[in-house]
Amino acid sequence: MINLKRNAKLALIKAQGKRSRIDTIYVPNQKKDFKLSRSKFNNFLLCPRCFYFDRVIGLQEPGMPGWALNTATDHLLKKEFDVCRKEHRPHRLFARNGLNHVIPLDHPEIDNWRDSLHKGLMHRFEATNIILSGGIDDIWLDTTTQELIVVDYKSQASDYPVETESYLSNEYHQSYKIQMDFYNYLLVSMGYKVSPLSYFLVVNADRNADGFYGHMKFSETLIPYQHDISWLPNKIQAMIDLMNLDIIPESNMSCENCAYAKERGSLDQ
Ligand code: SF4
Repeated sequence: MINLKRNAKLALIKAQGKRSRIDTIYVPNQKKDFKLSRSKFNNFLLCPRCFYFDRVIGLQEPGMPGWALNTATDHLLKKEFDVCRKEHRPHRLFARNGLNHVIPLDHPEIDNWRDSLHKGLMHRFEATNIILSGGIDDIWLDTTTQELIVVDYKSQASDYPVETESYLSNEYHQSYKIQMDFYNYLLVSMGYKVSPLSYFLVVNADRNADGFYGHMKFSETLIPYQHDISWLPNKIQAMIDLMNLDIIPESNMSCENCAYAKERGSLDQ
């Protein structure tokens, strides 16, 4: 994909390839606090080398266009759930999923926790200088147990029916489960009691409609997911250990970007 660097006024400027904001670059064994988001942790799992280039060396990843339609469905769902949140009542989807005892959580921090860019859930990892963060889509409350339920909205357009088993076993959805595990880990670390079940709210666009006619129809499915946070502390520690080394790790042999860059580099010589 060809992506051209522009400034805030959208004028083309020289792409530098490195970040200028020094506080986003980790110096091995630094003592100062350093914030790491859930998405950076996921990058570490996918390819420690690219994670290291990004967080420790400070390479600037090429920009990506936003997911405008997905962001719009998230935004509208948020508005809809906020009405129920304010009125302390279950959402219309809850009754048909046996969740009449559940309401969207009304909490003074909910907007901060949903702000993935600037705040999110936040917690210091053990006795380190690493502050882990993650912006959630929503949290619901089980009114019988007072447990928090983590919720992630997912938008898609698939011809396959949205069913729990196939959705959760889909290879492309494994990172969604990691995302849920991570949010639950943060909430537990922050001292909250969480429900053993989290939910993906999957809205699936109907591609078999007769035409567009100015609107798109979506089905709505709640996918329950039994999260697991037990594996996270070791992996998070491994990520921190890597950041404190002066050794650049191996690349992921399945990465198309790296294969492209290698071939491209050989042509430039
Ligand atoms: S394999 Fe290369 S391009 Fe791909 S994620 Fe890793 S370092 Fe980045």
